[in-house]
Amino acid sequence: MSGSRDNRAIILFGPPGAGKGTQADRLLRDLGFEYIATGDILREAIAKKTPLGRRASEYMNAGQLVPDEVMIPIVEERLAKEGRGGGFLLDGFPRTVRQAEMLDKAAERNGIRIGRAIYLKTSREVIVQRLSGRRVCPKCGATYHVRNIPPKVQGVCDRCGSELAQREDDQEQAIVRRLVEYEKQTADVINYYRGKGVLAEIDGDLPVDESYPQIARLVAEDHSP
Ligand code: AMP
Repeated sequence: MSGSRDNRAIILFGPPGAGKGTQADRLLRDLGFEYIATGDILREAIAKKTPLGRRASEYMNAGQLVPDEVMIPIVEERLAKEGRGGGFLLDGFPRTVRQAEMLDKAAERNGIRIGRAIYLKTSREVIVQRLSGRRVCPKCGATYHVRNIPPKVQGVCDRCGSELAQREDDQEQAIVRRLVEYEKQTADVINYYRGKGVLAEIDGDLPVDESYPQIARLVAEDHSP
């Protein structure tokens, strides 16, 4: 515990396909924050076949949320460590009001201020187009899109040369289930942060080059206490 830390947490928030991962890449380049992406943590656990991975994969493949009891300790542990560059960038967490409440408590314990919850508001049409075209590198985690961000050689990762794959939960049926799940549970989180006065809404339908400068500005403004 160290209440003397002056860290802040920026939350990237929005439906699957809103572009959270892509925006996060850019923010991390600019801020050097500690990155906590719960989806990435779970996928890594699945790849390593850990007990967490085995438990999480059933839910993920079905397009459902992994239970709060599983998710909360993972994030608590990461927040208890020192953040880099003055803070934490949260991607994919919190996804339920219970997770958001836990985040508040853990932040307080660890001297972290919740700076901004950036909500990438995205239409269903754009979500389906983005997710169904998404390809990922199973080895290094790089993300592509068959049309928007194609690799130099079709189906091959630019960074490490591995064969690209489609995420199991990016298959059309799972996408629809993930969206239903999102609307059912996660939309309440928006109201939670709106109530706290830290919510900022960004048009997630815009190409990243247009939306990112808006996000960068919000994050910079938040820095002045
Ligand atoms: P993402 O990469 O953020 O789209 O997450 C992929 C999947 O991981 C989600 O559809 C959930 O099944 C699971 N997941 C990631 N983060 C969370 C979370 N905070 N709470 C519950 N499930 C999560």
